[in-house]
Amino acid sequence: MTDLEIAQAATLNPITKIAAKIGLDEDSIDQYGKYKAKINSVNMGKKLPDNHKLVLVTSINPTPAGEGKSTVLVGLGDALTKLNHKTIIAMREPSMGPVMGMKGGATGGGYSQVVPMEDINLHFTGDIHALTSANNTLAALIDNYILHDNQLDLDPRRIIWKRVLDINDRALRQTITGMGGISQGIVRETGFEITAASELMAVLCLATDLADLKIRISKIVVGYTTDKQPVTVGQLHFEDAITILLKEALKPNLVQTLAHTPTIIHGGPFANIAHGCNSVIATKTALQLADYTVTEAGFGADLGAEKFLDIKRPILGKTPDAIVVVATVRALKYNGGQSLDQLKNEDLAALQTGFANLQRHLDNMNRYGIPLVVSINHFVSDTSAELELLKNYCETQGITAVITDSWAQGGNGTTDLARAVVTATDQPANFKPLYDNQASIAEKIEQIVTNIYGGKEVTFSKKAIRQMKQFTAFGWDNLPICIAKTQYSFSDDPHLLGAPKDFTLHIREFIPKMGAGFIVALAGNILTMPGLPKKPAALNMHIDADGKVTGLF
Ligand code: ADP
Repeated sequence: MTDLEIAQAATLNPITKIAAKIGLDEDSIDQYGKYKAKINSVNMGKKLPDNHKLVLVTSINPTPAGEGKSTVLVGLGDALTKLNHKTIIAMREPSMGPVMGMKGGATGGGYSQVVPMEDINLHFTGDIHALTSANNTLAALIDNYILHDNQLDLDPRRIIWKRVLDINDRALRQTITGMGGISQGIVRETGFEITAASELMAVLCLATDLADLKIRISKIVVGYTTDKQPVTVGQLHFEDAITILLKEALKPNLVQTLAHTPTIIHGGPFANIAHGCNSVIATKTALQLADYTVTEAGFGADLGAEKFLDIKRPILGKTPDAIVVVATVRALKYNGGQSLDQLKNEDLAALQTGFANLQRHLDNMNRYGIPLVVSINHFVSDTSAELELLKNYCETQGITAVITDSWAQGGNGTTDLARAVVTATDQPANFKPLYDNQASIAEKIEQIVTNIYGGKEVTFSKKAIRQMKQFTAFGWDNLPICIAKTQYSFSDDPHLLGAPKDFTLHIREFIPKMGAGFIVALAGNILTMPGLPKKPAALNMHIDADGKVTGLF
């Protein structure tokens, strides 16, 4: 059965029943139909309970072979629930870019899924649409301002605020707006980004409450004056209108797994071109309501987990008590040189070579001082010799590795992992941040590149060097860095698999994200508006006259 068929065959509990499990009555939620709700009652200012545990699920670098991070996350949540631990899963909302394009959904797979999967993967409760509208309202207000007022002398050539869409649309990467004569506005060159990479998405995910959301929005830099001074949303007085458009989207969404574990899905920044973590509000809500919160960070641990620990953690005010690194035999063999069409065949040598990728991720996570567990996500084509080799490899490094069968067996296939995770969370953690925010922009990037990516050095384009000087003069240099780079490699070259060494990472440009509170560094050829592949997933999808959808995944 496909993921969609399994999800469609599920019997869901009313969302009121799921809410009741975590102590939320009907007045504490706003229902969006029978199976989805927004949580409206949790007091975000409340201190987090000390004894509530946070588990971060991350993985090796993604490959076309599949890793199954969300699948393991959901299985782990179900297994902890089965072991009678009050558990909430906190995930990111899928973007329609990957859904219609290539990666697929983000609700797990097989018997470890969050439902209603179709709704969650398509429009869900409309948060991403609200972000898109709010973002584009701000763009329209800016264009209107430069046409009618422009007292601040905002330079049309220096506006950095772009319009967004929640779909991969490469035709809109570079656009010219305002064409058609004087009454259409000021002609200028701009472009679109995907909503999941937008600053407003990051702002929504990092805001601690509605007041903080408004403060963050007012700090967003939209462009520069003709004498190169930054202009913020606050200077233009647009922050209230934009905050109003996001007031419902700021509330976390409650759904359930196939096994009825409460799951909060909120916020969906990509981890390659954004910071890759679900919202602080959702994670805090889960931490307040459950003994165990299991959450994820996107793509490999070099991107999502690094950004979770260096960008989200200080705002969340909670360090994970344990980290789960998901690995698969298939993906490690692919990293070790086995071709995609051969992955079903046993290849212990390729697997052994591929260990280098896992090893670097384990070393990186160890650097932060948080207890680790490896989840070996079992695929039917894995041989017992391969599984044994991988498990033994981890154990010789002193790291617990558990073979998990979340996809085929849901929580039942994940109980050993859940037990190992509980043990890990009881071990003492000794968190050490990777870098000091007071270091210069270049130094922080060098720390990430040499310590996490395993590269030799960083080079900067002329533009990037100019920007670093400018940002330092503006006092923006002591913010964390969000590197935008390919997810497929530790380097900025998607073809360098395994654990490449001695490479140089090239930073071509910076984007200040003052509302989010970080500086984006664009590495290599990474783009903030993805394109659709030659055969988009959209072509496999069908709907019949009764509204039954097939081929979603
Ligand atoms: P990630 O979160 O790492 O992107 P997902 O959990 O979304 O990965 O899984 C991607 C796809 O792989 C899903 O369609 C899922 O059903 C499938 N998948 C995951 N684990 C397994 C497995 N062990 N066996 C078969 N398919 C799997």
